[in-house]
Amino acid sequence: MEIKTDFLVIGSGIGGLSFALKVCELGDVIIVTKKQDSESNTNYAQGGIASVLSKDDSFELHIGDTLRAGDGLCNPEVVRKVVEEGPACINELLQIGVNFSRKKEKDGELDLGLEGGHSKNRVAHASDLTGREIENSLLSAVKSKTSVKILEDHIAIDLITQHHLKGHHRKPGEKIKCWGAYVLDQEQNQVITCLSRITLLATGGAGRVYLHTTNPSIATGDGLAMAYQAGAKVANLEFIQFHPTALYHEKADSFLISEAVRGEGGILRLKSGETFMEKYHPRKELAPRDVVARAIDFELKKRGDPCVYLDITHLDQRFIKLRFPHIYGKCLSLGLDITTDWIPVVPATHYICGGVVTDLEGRTGIENLYACGEVACTGMHGANRLASNSLLEATAFAHFSADSARKKLSSMKHFSFPSIPPWSLEGVFDQQEWVIISHNRDWIQKFMWDYVGIVRSNRRLEQAKRRINILLDEITEFYKVNPVTYDVIELRNIATVAKLIIECALMRKESRGLHYNIDYSETADTNWLKDTILESDEV
Ligand SMILES: Cc1cc2nc3c(=O)[nH]c(=O)nc-3n(C[C@H](O)[C@H](O)[C@H](O)COP(=O)(O)OP(=O)(O)OC[C@H]3O[C@@H](n4cnc5c(N)ncnc54)[C@H](O)[C@@H]3O)c2cc1C
Repeated sequence: MEIKTDFLVIGSGIGGLSFALKVCELGDVIIVTKKQDSESNTNYAQGGIASVLSKDDSFELHIGDTLRAGDGLCNPEVVRKVVEEGPACINELLQIGVNFSRKKEKDGELDLGLEGGHSKNRVAHASDLTGREIENSLLSAVKSKTSVKILEDHIAIDLITQHHLKGHHRKPGEKIKCWGAYVLDQEQNQVITCLSRITLLATGGAGRVYLHTTNPSIATGDGLAMAYQAGAKVANLEFIQFHPTALYHEKADSFLISEAVRGEGGILRLKSGETFMEKYHPRKELAPRDVVARAIDFELKKRGDPCVYLDITHLDQRFIKLRFPHIYGKCLSLGLDITTDWIPVVPATHYICGGVVTDLEGRTGIENLYACGEVACTGMHGANRLASNSLLEATAFAHFSADSARKKLSSMKHFSFPSIPPWSLEGVFDQQEWVIISHNRDWIQKFMWDYVGIVRSNRRLEQAKRRINILLDEITEFYKVNPVTYDVIELRNIATVAKLIIECALMRKESRGLHYNIDYSETADTNWLKDTILESDEV
């Protein structure tokens, strides 16, 4: 089956939906999303979205905080552009009905939270369910547009480029072009050739490459792997943010305890009750996330303890229930009353700062292919993301990309699609060896956690590289001869992204931001003030 559209949006989180909402006036939009429409990292964001919204704050302060967190690798031009776009982004979200928490009654000012690394209160939030509020509002807005169609349970497999044209060899210097994607309709079990003039990758993060993560199951780095395989540049994948405080409980799949809990005065304690953050940073619990995550990792490894504790029992009980209803309810359902009990926490993979390289308009190196949100590397986060800057970046870049796509579309008046063959089933039959999938997935997640985690070394990275190369060969072989399924697609992507993370981590011969290697424990002066960029040589 073949379908044609003006815009193909891959992913229905904040990036994809915000873009769709802006371009739907220009043409038909198809959004493909691999599970239910709301299932995304966006839906789980708790803390909020950062922007300069109060009189005692300024763009310069927000820019300064972002650049400081990014440890020399942010693109200052991008940071300024995004930060200055912030108030307009919040305004647009308010206009589509996002109900941000307010100070007093309904018409009061926005209640702005303080989070680690921010010098001012500037985080707009909807209690501790900000992401769900934003996701639902965006979905309702998008669903009211007749030119937008959302296809749930449709997983993109590959981007369509010259590579898929029969007998086509790219001439030297010829740019790679994107004409959409092959997409698996899981219900019908058929691969659709989805042709589009302009394609946006908004597939989110890659937390599921690791064993412990705050990310939901959709976060398998699909867009990153697809873009790399199609020939786009990817960069800075060594910068993985480990959230310091995921709930440690056998029945919680790495449930996040938001940064905002520390922002409101939460104290980290060892099981003895002793505090420890004062040994690591003058801002203690409000130090940047990487500092807090490494401090916890260090204390846990030193003592062999499984977790540390976050204590908010000194805060007013009514305030806790009002400010953190979701965290309070979740913990209570597990037998923990956070108004009286300390919360057991461990670090977990949370956010990937690197991604598909884009310019200031969200364009990737592939013609007609844009990327925004967590899948992209725009230059906003550098070596470390400042808390609550990712929802902001995704919204702002959806806007920049839509502006750019508008211009692009108007220059495509005489555009026509080449003849694209349907998905090939040649040489494919069910080998009935599906155990390989679950086994390899588990194995990758475990060794990525142990060897490419919070604290790295050359030796462990080299071992990880050897393992992933063997596995990737096996998986590629399996992929070629078996029918394409959801699990195979995800496994191939997880393995590809794991390899790319390891390669970036090995390339960087220093410690900087979120990347910490004991063999180069110092931050190099100017030699490494550059991105680690990878590009496939098989395209
Ligand atoms: C628990 C948690 C809390 C967070 N808290 C905050 C916060 O307070 N503030 C903040 O700024 N950031 C926060 N973040 C980060 C932020 O939520 C994400 O970076 C942001 O939501 C990413 O948006 P996105 O649109 O890029 O991707 P997502 O929201 O992850 O959406 C990706 C979409 O792509 C789809 N998809 C993926 N692969 C495919 C494929 N192959 N085919 C089709 N569809 C596909 C997914 O199903 C999903 O719909 C948090 C993240 C988590 C996990």
